[in-house]
Amino acid sequence: MSLLLRRISHLVTCDDADRELVDVDVLVEGRRIVAVGSDLPCPPDTEVIDGEGLLVLPGLVNAHNHLYQIGLRALPELERTTILPWLRGVTTRCLDMWRNGAMEPETVGALARAGMVESVLTGVTTVADQHYFFPGGWTLPFIEETIEAATEVGLRLHAGRGSITLGRDRGGSAPDVVVQTIDEVLKHSQALIESYHDPEPLAMVRIDLAPCGVHADRLELYTETAILAALNPGVGLHTHLYEVVDTRFCAERYGTTPWRILLRHGWHSERVWLAHVVDPPAEEIPEFAAAGVGVAHLIGPDLKMGWGLSPVREMLDAGVKMGFGTTGSASNDGSNVLGDLRVAALAHRMSSADPRRWLSARELLRMATRGSARCLGRTDLGVVAPGFGADLAGWDMTTVDRVGVHDPVAGLVLTGISDRAHLVVVNGRVVVRDGRCVTVDERAVAREARRLLRQSIGDR
Ligand SMILES: [Zn+2]
Repeated sequence: MSLLLRRISHLVTCDDADRELVDVDVLVEGRRIVAVGSDLPCPPDTEVIDGEGLLVLPGLVNAHNHLYQIGLRALPELERTTILPWLRGVTTRCLDMWRNGAMEPETVGALARAGMVESVLTGVTTVADQHYFFPGGWTLPFIEETIEAATEVGLRLHAGRGSITLGRDRGGSAPDVVVQTIDEVLKHSQALIESYHDPEPLAMVRIDLAPCGVHADRLELYTETAILAALNPGVGLHTHLYEVVDTRFCAERYGTTPWRILLRHGWHSERVWLAHVVDPPAEEIPEFAAAGVGVAHLIGPDLKMGWGLSPVREMLDAGVKMGFGTTGSASNDGSNVLGDLRVAALAHRMSSADPRRWLSARELLRMATRGSARCLGRTDLGVVAPGFGADLAGWDMTTVDRVGVHDPVAGLVLTGISDRAHLVVVNGRVVVRDGRCVTVDERAVAREARRLLRQSIGDR
């Protein structure tokens, strides 16, 4: 199947030259982009999509999410909490849901499906999901259900096999029911890799190894996951780092910093990307760049937790590979990358008195496309150019809320009453058309997730 996006009003390519093109065509054959140019010939059996009025980008890549937390949005007791009561509160809620039968693998799959539909509707084509909550046993197929949901929705998924391995008997804080042994984590990681991981370019599913954090996992697991990843091409390494709580924990328990711990355990390679990185020591920032690790900036939870601003400008200056994400909905309440880019564009103005140091809309969009793709090790995604995967997101810039916009790229980030994308293509397949998900029924997905959550609000 071929697609020709004809006369796109404004195309942001995110290519090496950062080109932006107007009134341009994009031709997709199969899963790849094969041509970008004016008045491209239309091959036989090609669907033509009118690009007039559209701003088109590479699909957004959410470099950090916990999709099951869709079931934990806007918890009243956690609206205004700091990290430690938040962690206790989320764990308590999750365990309550589990005991009530509302945290079964089927439910997690339904929640993930809802989060994925929310994602594609806001222009996201790839999600990196980290699942570390396994009440009731490590063999329960929470991640398998999530992968199945991604296949139905038509979203690219990086499924991170998360874990909590530091039990209370070893100085951790998680209850025993969610703590796993290192052997269990490795065994399941290996099984997931064998069953689902596709190392080839344009893969729709990849497995990454994603311990929760150096404050929640035994450090031997970091060594073991680095070894396992090295044996499997395309398997990435992902963890939370410098989210304040681990910074304090490492100082008190290990007398060092979270990054120094990663260095000791083999987590300083291009396979690694880190979530948050809010309060790193300044002298370590060049080390992130030298090691080739990526950082996913998560403005939503960083602000919600009251942590303040990650030193994104300093990391960009140092050459750190910067991506963007939302985290899960228990500490952000949504998976809207574009909405969070708007928050970041405004919030980072508090970080410097010099406006030239503020993050521009173009810098942020690049972080959320090519930057996030690079964090995930995806050199095949995040750019609109021949040879790249056909992941595209287009927004209608002719709507009433965008009247008067002079710069469509800044306008996409800074304006809008809805971030809903008009057109989304993943791997050459139209997933969102005219602002509606066409692979699954949005209302049915929401209804089923609510039913399994046993949530009484809504349209059941
Ligand atoms: Zn997270």
